[in-house]
Amino acid sequence: MTDERDRLIFEKTHEGRRGYSIPAQDVPSTTVERSVPADLVRDEIAGFPEVSENNLVRHYTRLSTWNYGVDTGMYPLGSCTMKYNPKINETAARLGGFGGLHPLAPESAVQGALKVMYALQEMLGETTGLPSVTLQPAAGAHGELTGMMMVRKRLEDRDGKPRSLVLIPDSAHGTNPSSAHLCGYDVREIRSGTAGNLSTDALAEAMTEDVAALMLTNPNTLGMFEDEIVKAAAIVHARGGLVYCDGANMNALIGKARPGDFGVDVMHLNLHKTFSTPHGGGGPGSGPVVATREMYPHLPAPIVVKAGDRFRLDFDRPKSIGRVKAFHGNFGMIVRAYAYIRALGPDGLRDTAENAVLNANYARVRLRERYDVPYDRINMHEVILSDHRQNANGVTTLDIAKRLIDYGFHPPTIYFPLVVHGAIMVEPTESEGVDELDRFVDAMFAIADEAERDPDLLKRAPVTTRRSRFDEAAAARKPILRWKPGISAA
Ligand SMILES: *Cc1c(COP(=O)(O)O)cnc(C)c1O
Repeated sequence: MTDERDRLIFEKTHEGRRGYSIPAQDVPSTTVERSVPADLVRDEIAGFPEVSENNLVRHYTRLSTWNYGVDTGMYPLGSCTMKYNPKINETAARLGGFGGLHPLAPESAVQGALKVMYALQEMLGETTGLPSVTLQPAAGAHGELTGMMMVRKRLEDRDGKPRSLVLIPDSAHGTNPSSAHLCGYDVREIRSGTAGNLSTDALAEAMTEDVAALMLTNPNTLGMFEDEIVKAAAIVHARGGLVYCDGANMNALIGKARPGDFGVDVMHLNLHKTFSTPHGGGGPGSGPVVATREMYPHLPAPIVVKAGDRFRLDFDRPKSIGRVKAFHGNFGMIVRAYAYIRALGPDGLRDTAENAVLNANYARVRLRERYDVPYDRINMHEVILSDHRQNANGVTTLDIAKRLIDYGFHPPTIYFPLVVHGAIMVEPTESEGVDELDRFVDAMFAIADEAERDPDLLKRAPVTTRRSRFDEAAAARKPILRWKPGISAA
């Protein structure tokens, strides 16, 4: 028998039930009839469920309890920085003067909004040491593309040609080679050294006058700080190349180190990671690009500038790469990031990075008792484990991740970065306290015990959820995205 909780609202339909009570129509129906052709007007929506208001409320409320988010529990999804988003940011973004603005309102009517954008540009420039800032890009990957377009434009402007190659370490996020490629570059991979860092010897060997840029992530996706970054940047600059930094991992550096000081020319930030604006589920993101003073002419247009005590949008930018986003970026995210930075202040931002790094090192030192840690040295904001020890009993990273769901945790990122076999990437972020970290470690230890005692149990996990394991390939290739009569999702 189907569990009552599994029944879709469409299956609870009762003819004649209504979930609304709205006042009677007070416009003459002839108005409607005149503006909509008769054959397009329908009295009934075919197949729609007929339910009462409380059925409807229960339907959506129940669905919401099947979700997991940062507001429900720890979400150690490495590389994604799923930190807690203070609710005050939401209040700020929803203030009528921000949330109710029309994007085409004249400059004179939106001075406050422009001031917030200008201030955020200044703050991001100051914390990264890269003072040329655009807030337009809508995500990290979009920022990468924007930044690489600026690299291309800069080289064309300087040398009359854009060069043809981009060097990218093998630990890079998949978006890096894609962005370089979309921008018309060929990509050459550089192997990481044994310690999980970029090898400057390999870099020096690959660096030629046909290389437009080195594109690297710092801290890298193995959670390691690239401590030879200054030398690496010098190698690239000596042959006329530029250094692009993927700044998605800025959570480890904020208030501690400025990429502009260690040789980076252009970088994107993920406001929806480091600067605590909500993400996941394909919601709006924001990927501002910061760059050296030299790159200023190539920023997308318009940017917000200050003239006296007024703010305006500067469209007159002949060397700009052009516009990369309609209107002015995802403005709500800009307000949230501004509120977050102002609430924390410089000292608070530095504490954020210190605690993020402390938490990840605490996790590494505790978890290495039962799990393999391929790069077991001081890490930054995330730590990578592997399933090497559990493999002895046939248990894999996927089984461990699925079983964590039964213990009430969102699984970490798995099988990334690709350079670690069976990677489990844990990023606790600064927003978890030590008691919650200990609960997570306890769950991981319990799973390590189960892997030895009862590996079969892990193969069946999760066992406490509405659904167990999906056929992930079929779910991606033949998704059932909406209810249709006669098709059951079960
Ligand atoms: C998240 C992430 C990206 C991509 O950012 P999106 O906002 O998801 O497009 C790029 N690089 C790294 C290292 C990341 O963690």
